[in-house]
Amino acid sequence: MTIRFNEMELQAPILRAIEELGYEEMTPIQAQAIPIVLEGRDIVGQAQTGTGKTAAFSIPILQKVDPKVKGLQAVVLCPTRELAIQVSDEMHKFSKFMHGIKAIPIYGGQDIARQIRALKAGVQIVIGTPGRVMDHMRRKTVKFDKVSMIALDEADEMLNMGFREDIETILKEMPEERQTLLFSATMPQPIMEIARTYQKNAALVKVVKKELTVPKIEQYYYEVRPKNKVDVLSRLLDMYSPKRCLVFCNTKRQVDELVTSLTGRGFFAEGLHGDLKQQQRDRVMNSFRNGKAEILVATDVAARGIDVDDVEAVFNYDVPQDEEYYVHRIGRTGRAGRTGRAFTLVVGKEVYKLRDIQRYCKTKIKIMPIPSVNDVTAVKAEKILDRINEIMESEDLTKMISLIETKVNESDYTALDVAAAFLKMSMGNENQAEEQVTPDFGDTGAEQGMVRLFINLGKKQNIRPGDILGAIAGETGMPGKLIGSIDMYDKYTFVEVPREYAADVIQVMKESKIKGKSINIEPANHK
Ligand code: AMP
Repeated sequence: MTIRFNEMELQAPILRAIEELGYEEMTPIQAQAIPIVLEGRDIVGQAQTGTGKTAAFSIPILQKVDPKVKGLQAVVLCPTRELAIQVSDEMHKFSKFMHGIKAIPIYGGQDIARQIRALKAGVQIVIGTPGRVMDHMRRKTVKFDKVSMIALDEADEMLNMGFREDIETILKEMPEERQTLLFSATMPQPIMEIARTYQKNAALVKVVKKELTVPKIEQYYYEVRPKNKVDVLSRLLDMYSPKRCLVFCNTKRQVDELVTSLTGRGFFAEGLHGDLKQQQRDRVMNSFRNGKAEILVATDVAARGIDVDDVEAVFNYDVPQDEEYYVHRIGRTGRAGRTGRAFTLVVGKEVYKLRDIQRYCKTKIKIMPIPSVNDVTAVKAEKILDRINEIMESEDLTKMISLIETKVNESDYTALDVAAAFLKMSMGNENQAEEQVTPDFGDTGAEQGMVRLFINLGKKQNIRPGDILGAIAGETGMPGKLIGSIDMYDKYTFVEVPREYAADVIQVMKESKIKGKSINIEPANHK
């Protein structure tokens, strides 16, 4: 069931913001919850982070808040300061084109006087942690008399953190005539009790999940930083050079941006999403079918309507918002007994979403280190050598052999030299690939060709140079003999690694431990 936002009775400025964000359709929890909340009913929504639940309550709240009324009209309670900020940011994104709406986060740790000033200036929506909201309630710096909506976000988490009493005190202070929205990943007894006591005739919404069968294909994921996503995808595309592949993004805007980045790097990529006219879709699909475009970048909705199943690899540029999307996406590869691979790029906390997907789909997605430039070269060479094998077995090469013999006889080169040159030629311009992914670390005070890295562990932590060497070689797969000088001090260490390995070493080591200790590693500052 596809429901687009513009099928809802939402104000034009909200729809415009959603359009600008590039959301193609509602996620399952949004499709179920938004109509109910717009109707004015209380709701208990069971949804995890990453499913689009924030928008599920933020959009209807914004729709219902009256910009002409300056007093507080909606309160969102969140377990942590981070979440309060995140929800507030999301509200700001959706209210970008609305006039006269003010939403602010209030949380412990932030200067209370500043919050009081902000509240006095007239705020319609407060997104706060229960403790701090209570604090303001007691000081009478927030008044609930005009509040008509309250949302509890990650209610189970708030209870785990011991906020039950605070939440109940706040709920008791709220006007009787109000709408109460409760969102929680799990529904233990105490949550149901709160729902029973403080809600009226609440609709229970949870995304009913079908039994999913995950195709038996190899699935990998890579932990990446947001700014490295295009680089990592490019390396994977270089390394596996799939003849045809699908890359999935969560928004239309992301599809457009990624197509621009990939084509800028010399890949033949086309994008597909709901904004394209039929004629454009046909052109894109033809180009993909006849092999002109090797990469099709698409949203879930757009990909659903196309009959391309036979792809060598699927890349999840964004982690899908719903487990079912994951299964649909990766099911596009590995058809008809062919081998297929699925790769997912994961940023920060999305790793939890991936864990949910694995658990729910009963599948294993293996973590992989981000391939280094050397890995890319080796895999590319292997692919070409495989093809060469086929040619040697099936084709008549007499004429070619005689041409090579002539070349070898006329020069000082051996047949092996000639073969190596051909291999290099077929692999394309390797230096170019390296240029794209090797960042400039500036002068770190290292020897020529090396980068000096700073690690925040030293002798005082009982670390020896051998531990550092062993950890770097072991974690990155880079030969230990390539590691340069290691200068160890009491609390930190400098180690030199070849420039082409530096980015990988930093990336991999940031996630690793040395003798059980987490580390901070970065290029050294050279004065
Ligand atoms: P949440 O579950 O609220 O943490 O949302 C996860 C992410 O999904 C956020 O980055 C949202 O901006 C994004 N998101 C929410 N709704 C949609 C949608 N309908 N389409 C695409 N992305 C969405």
